[in-house]
Amino acid sequence: MDPREFDVIILGGGVVGAGTMRDCAMRGLRALLIERADIATGASGRNHGLLHSGARYAVNDPESAAECIAENQILRRIAAHCIEPTGGLFISLPEDDLSYQHTFVEACRKAGIGAEIIDPKLAREMEPSVNPDLIGAVRVPDASVDPFRLCASNMLDAKLRGAQVRLRTEVTGFIREGDTIRGVHTRNVQTGRETDYYAPVVVNACGVWGQEVAQMAGVQVGMFPSKGALLIFAHRVNNMVINRCRKPSNADILVPGDTVCIIGTTSTRIPLENCHKVSVTPDEVTLLVTEGAKLTPALSETRILRAFAGVRPLVSDDNDPTGRNISRGIVCLDHETRDGLKGFVTITGGKLTTYRLMAEMATDLVCSKLGVNKACETATTPLPGSEGRSYEELARQIWEAPSTAQKAATARLGSVVSEVPKRSRQDEALVCECEEVPVWEVNNAFERMGVSSLTDLRRRTRVGMGTCQGEFCACRAAGLLAKAQDCAARERADLLKFMGERWKGNFPIGWGESLREAEYTQWVYKHVLGL
Ligand SMILES: Cc1cc2nc3c(=O)[nH]c(=O)nc-3n(C[C@H](O)[C@H](O)[C@H](O)COP(=O)(O)OP(=O)(O)OC[C@H]3O[C@@H](n4cnc5c(N)ncnc54)[C@H](O)[C@@H]3O)c2cc1C
Repeated sequence: MDPREFDVIILGGGVVGAGTMRDCAMRGLRALLIERADIATGASGRNHGLLHSGARYAVNDPESAAECIAENQILRRIAAHCIEPTGGLFISLPEDDLSYQHTFVEACRKAGIGAEIIDPKLAREMEPSVNPDLIGAVRVPDASVDPFRLCASNMLDAKLRGAQVRLRTEVTGFIREGDTIRGVHTRNVQTGRETDYYAPVVVNACGVWGQEVAQMAGVQVGMFPSKGALLIFAHRVNNMVINRCRKPSNADILVPGDTVCIIGTTSTRIPLENCHKVSVTPDEVTLLVTEGAKLTPALSETRILRAFAGVRPLVSDDNDPTGRNISRGIVCLDHETRDGLKGFVTITGGKLTTYRLMAEMATDLVCSKLGVNKACETATTPLPGSEGRSYEELARQIWEAPSTAQKAATARLGSVVSEVPKRSRQDEALVCECEEVPVWEVNNAFERMGVSSLTDLRRRTRVGMGTCQGEFCACRAAGLLAKAQDCAARERADLLKFMGERWKGNFPIGWGESLREAEYTQWVYKHVLGL
């Protein structure tokens, strides 16, 4: 058989593409995923990391709310190592209309979300960082989710089941015969090598870029690119997700995750051609800090680590200029019935929280086209790292781990941690102190997780994501990468690129402590390392 032939080709290595690849592989299909950059480089790696309970959408978008709570419960079972069951609060402040709380709780009840009004005093006890002036609080089953881990686990599982992945490979066109798609033209963005791949069905899971990819195939999918800006704070101020109990607005969600917390977001329509180079403006930083401090006053005195922005893949509604009111619902398009184009499917819209359901819908459609009659099992089959483990069991494993690095790695890798080889005592040394990442975890990422640069490594292990932002760990990781790839020549270029990426997020918040730290980093790299 021609190695370029598959049953299904999935375009886009965000969480939806990764989930679809896994589902296809689990149903026995020979699947290929094509991603032009690395995993989770689109919206999937540029979000809050909130595992929605659905409460945020209950009033305005009940269908999405119901999807979110159903998936929230499923992901807690199948992806325990990616999720922290923090719980969430929706708080009302003196300037808010407290009567909205009842509308909100009633809408949650209808969507099947367990929302409970609690005494503000109890809310302060449960989450000491919350604004002490709050006049109302509702407890909901929100949680935090690590999107990088989720994406990587889906890809790893699919690969273990025989699926193939081509990273840094861009789809440049479609192989079309009359009214049927037969495959795709691709180009490796590093080597420039062009390759064609063939399959009877191609799935467009390119998020907001799904519009231009659909255009290449000759059909129209109208996207509404909605930019959202976020800030990461240097430590966890809160342990529960804190939301504002009002109509969704700017900077009204604060999510704790790993060692940090994230405030967001804004919502601004941007041109499609700008989606790959979004940056955060000074006005957005000011707004996020000012509004964020209303949820948790401590934010105004907490060091900001970096700013970043992502683009939501909302499906177009020209009547809503902000995008806040567009449904977060899932859009699964069969272009054969919609446009008369056979062998092409688009899956878009939705949320990180509903990625599995989106993947199931797309795979159901693929299977019906291929005449494959196999039911979806992703709702009950745990991802690698969560096999046979509830969150409580994982928490116990973390607690019992012999060192802090082992604890941190167990939290990141889940049950897979025991399979990772630790070859020597040097393997136990730390590469990244902020995130406690040992050498053996970094080497595992090189060997098993498709890492080809320091920036990829960050997405798999959190190296460089912590308080020093790569100041001390990046050069150590560069040394290990050069050794793994047997290519010392690339070490310097890769290091500069990595620090350049870190700088992009430091620049918009460059004042006070953050500016001092950035200056110090520059001195280390310039005067100690000569870069
Ligand atoms: C600011 C913000 C905050 C959010 N917060 C949350 C949250 O807290 N909780 C939640 O549940 N959801 C949240 N979301 C929504 C969620 O992030 C997205 O719905 C989800 O990640 C979309 O995943 P995706 O796989 O469809 O798209 P993406 O992750 O964007 O993936 C698309 C991929 O396609 C690739 N691609 C594009 N063109 C090509 C090509 N020609 N060839 C090959 N590959 C290509 C891109 O490189 C990209 O990796 C947020 C979104 C944003 C922007």
